[in-house]
Amino acid sequence: MSSSLQDEYIKTESLYGAQNYSPLSVVLEKGEGAYLWDVDGNKYLDMVSAYSAVSHGHSHPELLKTLHEQSSKLAVTSRAFYTEPFSTFLEKLSKVSGFESILTMNTGAEAVETAIKAARRWGYFSKGIPEDKAEIIVANGNFHGRTTTIVSFSSDASYKDGFGPFTPGFNSAEYCGSCDCQSIDSCLSIESFEKKINKNTCAILVEPIQGEAGIRVPTDGWLKQLRALCTSRNILLILDEIQSGLGRTGKLFAYEHENIKPDGLILGKALGGAILPISAFLSSKEIMNHFNPGSHGSTFGGNPLASKIAIKAIDLLFEEKLIENSKKMGEYFLTSLRQIDSKIIKEVRGKGLWIGMELNKSDVNAKDLCLMLLNEGLLCKETHKTVIRFAPPLMISKEDLDWAINKITKVLRAI
Ligand SMILES: *Cc1c(COP(=O)(O)O)cnc(C)c1O
Repeated sequence: MSSSLQDEYIKTESLYGAQNYSPLSVVLEKGEGAYLWDVDGNKYLDMVSAYSAVSHGHSHPELLKTLHEQSSKLAVTSRAFYTEPFSTFLEKLSKVSGFESILTMNTGAEAVETAIKAARRWGYFSKGIPEDKAEIIVANGNFHGRTTTIVSFSSDASYKDGFGPFTPGFNSAEYCGSCDCQSIDSCLSIESFEKKINKNTCAILVEPIQGEAGIRVPTDGWLKQLRALCTSRNILLILDEIQSGLGRTGKLFAYEHENIKPDGLILGKALGGAILPISAFLSSKEIMNHFNPGSHGSTFGGNPLASKIAIKAIDLLFEEKLIENSKKMGEYFLTSLRQIDSKIIKEVRGKGLWIGMELNKSDVNAKDLCLMLLNEGLLCKETHKTVIRFAPPLMISKEDLDWAINKITKVLRAI
């Protein structure tokens, strides 16, 4: 809701800031739980959650307490020394996830880079791939971050244009969810992955659900088949659960829906409790032990402040039953959105509190719809031109969801 005060900040930002985003025209000042307030005091329900980084809600009192306590004690040391918070964090995440070994970084993209390095070392040192020949297979429509190596294997021109030369060693296969297959037996995706495999393939890297591509949910059985393919061909299966992990889909990890376990797991976003960035790559010791002192690192990675916050963030997921709430509220939200009778909606899909509403192309631009929802007090974000994603904090209540569903219905009816 634009005002002269907000216009001032927006003008200043565009005057001095790089124009690598196009935000909705609202200037936020305060957050609490599932709510955000702008500088004029208008209140909004958050359906973006910083792209799923805000699972615990904004300004969670216990996370703030941890932040204050640990930051006044010890915040940053670098990994030149040991700290108690880091060792406690490693033990906690390993016990909760079932992975033997963990390497921490800060942002998601850094953890993806770590996974790529780990997969390549495993390829050379365990699998015996000739030097500099390792290949990783990714999926079309992927989003894994913004570094030059990661955008090298993106299929989105806007992520790549003008940023070459690109890193070699990546192949793209078809993601399941881009085809319109009704069952896994008629899905062409697995075959497409199989075709890209050769003796130098060290890993397959995918998202269990593609978020940025528009909440593309693969057909049941897809991940299981991909797991079987990787096992039979001696290839690592690495899952990027930076957005899908830590309860977002109604399970701790999205791969649990398929009863499989990947060889490598990438976490980020909500691991930092909506307070600060911390990311991690998790795997077996066999894979991780190919890292040795000097081979990889990060100044801020695993710092005591981020470690303490992450410990608390993991504890709260269970103590406050955020995963169960995501499953329950997610099912309710999905069902309710599917019941909205509107010709504008092409499809509503998702898992847990991670839902994409795809609009029929010609009817309305997804960004325009987000602006209309903004005026109703609902903060949403489009992905591409035709999908609106709804990803509220995992602590959202049924009352708040009902309020949102009413507003969404009202806006869709008004078109
Ligand atoms: C957000 C995201 C990333 C990148 O994380 P950053 O913290 O922005 O670097 C990578 N993969 C997926 C699936 C994501 O959603």
